[in-house]
Amino acid sequence: MIAVFGGGGFIGSHLCQRLIDQGKSVVAVDIDSEKIANLLSEDSFTFHEADITDEENDELCREVIKEADVVFDLIAYANPQQYVDKPLEVVELNLFENLKIVDLCEETDTRLIQFSTCEVYGLLGNRDDIVFSEDSSNLILGPIEDQRWIYSCAKQLLERMVHAHGQENQLQYTIIRPFNFIGPQMDYLVESPDEGTPRVFASFMSALLFDHPMYLVNGGTNRRTFTYIEDAIDAIMLILRNEGGQFDREIVNVGHPNNEVTIEEFANRMRTIYAELSPDGTLPELRTISGEEFYGEGYDDSERRIPDTDKLQSAGWEPRYSLEDLLTESIQYYIDQFESELDVQP
Ligand code: UDP
Repeated sequence: MIAVFGGGGFIGSHLCQRLIDQGKSVVAVDIDSEKIANLLSEDSFTFHEADITDEENDELCREVIKEADVVFDLIAYANPQQYVDKPLEVVELNLFENLKIVDLCEETDTRLIQFSTCEVYGLLGNRDDIVFSEDSSNLILGPIEDQRWIYSCAKQLLERMVHAHGQENQLQYTIIRPFNFIGPQMDYLVESPDEGTPRVFASFMSALLFDHPMYLVNGGTNRRTFTYIEDAIDAIMLILRNEGGQFDREIVNVGHPNNEVTIEEFANRMRTIYAELSPDGTLPELRTISGEEFYGEGYDDSERRIPDTDKLQSAGWEPRYSLEDLLTESIQYYIDQFESELDVQP
């Protein structure tokens, strides 16, 4: 049995689906099951609606981990707005609560696949080399008052703790660093910008569907490499298979190195594809805004981050979705969903 903590989130829901499709038996733990509603009736799927921060659920977590062959831990706050708004909760959940899962895996001798973030690489600073390698790149963060880095810092300490548990106590683990995964069921959509700040794809998709401005934070000059969720799940399945123990006690970047784009270009590509797929829709205004005005005080940003994917490539992984393809797939999904919701409205 495979346990997926955080199985109801964006990555978790796609992972659970793939595991079930491949005939695996899955137990998911999450506070929400909306994104996996279609799996709840599957015989090989068990869902526990439980908050791991609630001590009452400690026993449940222990039981699930004890029964599992492998544990995926995806539980985290993972949205820059949260790092600025509630930094203490970010550390509480992303570090301390996650360490409980690490301890239980160690206690029960269960393999842990721990999700971290590419954000641990931090600021570009004055580096010449912007391709980040898991075992040799330095992890560089901004000053304490730039609250955004608290997330990266918590995740970095979690990684260091997992590594230390491996070194001192033989914990079997693999750490995954995702690079901006995109696809259906990502975050949430907002009908108006006052309703929240999902990550950039969901934010721009909301603007396109609900006709509010697309905001380019600090002019949209920073760059990201976007990875389609299906490519990401392919990589995660290889890591799970772990042929010949190749991912034992390894940190692995999961990202598409050739899909790098500035956020401004990303917005423009989304507009072009949306206009092609939904010719009757109007295109919203593009507006530049400062990071502070958009997210609040303490916001800072990574300029560039490109993954070195040698580890995955030597295991046979090649991402299949170009930026064009992943945007077309994802935008079409949301247009279809939007239209089907309009159909059911009285
Ligand atoms: N961003 C933007 N407009 C938005 C949301 C995000 O310009 O409506 C920018 C954000 O400042 C960052 C990039 O898009 O430079 C990616 O942000 P995201 O929230 O997706 O996550 P990150 O990669 O920073 O963790």
